[in-house]
Amino acid sequence: MTNHYSMYIDGKWVDGDEVYEIRSPATEELVATVAKGTTEHVDAAVAAAKGTFEQGIWRRTPPKERAALINTVAERLAARTDELAALQSRENGATIRITGALHVGLSVGQLQYLAAIVDQYEWETTGPAIEPVPAAGIVVREPIGVVAAIVPWNIPLLTAVWKVGPALAAGNSVVLKPDEHAPVLPLELAREFEAAGLPPGVLNVVTGDGEPVGAYLSGHPDVRKVAFTGSTAVGKSILRQSADSIRRVTLELGGKGANVILDDADIDMAVDGALFACMANNGEACEAGTRLLIPASRRDEIVGKLVERAATLRLGDPLAATTHVGPIISATQRDRILDYFRIGLEEGATIALGGRAPSGPEFNKGYWIEPTIFVDVTNDMRIARDEVFGPVLVVLTYDSVDEAVKIANDTNYGLSAGIWGSEERALEVARRLDAGMVWVNNWHVIHPAYPFGGFKESGLGREGGPHSIDEYVEEKFISLDRSGGIENKAFAIVIDPAQTRN
Ligand code: NAD
Repeated sequence: MTNHYSMYIDGKWVDGDEVYEIRSPATEELVATVAKGTTEHVDAAVAAAKGTFEQGIWRRTPPKERAALINTVAERLAARTDELAALQSRENGATIRITGALHVGLSVGQLQYLAAIVDQYEWETTGPAIEPVPAAGIVVREPIGVVAAIVPWNIPLLTAVWKVGPALAAGNSVVLKPDEHAPVLPLELAREFEAAGLPPGVLNVVTGDGEPVGAYLSGHPDVRKVAFTGSTAVGKSILRQSADSIRRVTLELGGKGANVILDDADIDMAVDGALFACMANNGEACEAGTRLLIPASRRDEIVGKLVERAATLRLGDPLAATTHVGPIISATQRDRILDYFRIGLEEGATIALGGRAPSGPEFNKGYWIEPTIFVDVTNDMRIARDEVFGPVLVVLTYDSVDEAVKIANDTNYGLSAGIWGSEERALEVARRLDAGMVWVNNWHVIHPAYPFGGFKESGLGREGGPHSIDEYVEEKFISLDRSGGIENKAFAIVIDPAQTRN
């Protein structure tokens, strides 16, 4: 029997008139049916969120109790790791090697980390005495209100947890909108919050298309903050939409990560690392290392090894533990990638490996792209500038480290970067790269205690890390006047108090 998922609004599981059929991108088999929401469902969810916020049910719950509830959700998700990992692999084609550790494991870790910091968070601090008034000063950190969390299909659970977790930790109410291709794990997250005892209406999930449902939600007048992960184009539209009401916005957008191999690197390790950087999560990761920068003097050696190792990557069933690269999310996305192959060739690049949709009976169903490596690439080509979002690596050469840094930074994005080489030299280069995360001798090192997010058009704000709750609070300065009589007040600030008394 196929699972059916309803939306979660005001503590009730509700359906609309239509459903999505969620089919495996590997087999096209039906994985689940999911309610398809409308703008009316958004109105209902935002009203519920606003109502609970105004009643203060959740925000007045002591931080310790909020932390305990978040921990319970983490435990419940952890207990279901294998089941949820398999469900995610079936739904969006991410390989089982990564859905357990990254999608579910890191989500659990992030919630546990949040629970730990909620308790220590400085919800209220007393500052220094304010002279010459004199007054005492307090800074109070309060939840913002109704938060809209909009997430993509490639890593749905973690991108949802990065928003829902700190928003709820801070006492906000949330309306979560998953992507229409992969809404199941965000709905499972809501199920676990419900089971853990979160009051109705505090977390709501509305499924629906980006247009109109996502756009309607992000522009809703009662939404005070939008937290979004997805494409840079939609991120920009949300920012524009938020200008009129000065709505708070956090954006995690695209990337075109530069991966620099220095000439003192362990080349075998760097080559495998470059494939991990680019191909993990089927290349459908915003933080992927998609531009490989290698010393021109070692070009043939490195490209030779890269192609040899990439040819051993196993493409296939995302549920098989031996699979390195699974299917592409949809026919549309596959065709978009195939189009980039044509563009790359027209621009003068050479395909050193792959460059096609694979053939064979196991690929008759679903949407597939061979792991692909382009060489003879220059940084002005579209395959070096645009986010392709698939298992496609472009290789560029450099003559000096200065040139490598220049190429690496010559992009509109600034999410991730990496360097392979001796720690001392790599660290020097790391400090010169314009990216939110720079990994030395590794890639995809994402940790709950460290911030995730980008420079430039890769986004605004950070998720995870010690300041993640800051993104979901307003700071309020309260001063308590202790100056006594009226003669000592406002004038005393601007005029010498000795003179006012005369
Ligand atoms: P997308 O922007 O099309 O969709 C993301 C979400 O936004 C979906 O829920 C979608 O329904 C919704 N949406 C679409 N149009 C909207 C609109 N006009 N207003 C409001 N919401 C709208 O992106 P995608 O193609 O689904 O995801 C892939 C992109 O996400 C890539 O560019 C990738 O780099 C990026 N991404 C970034 C991060 C990060 O943390 N920086 C993480 C994962 C993915």
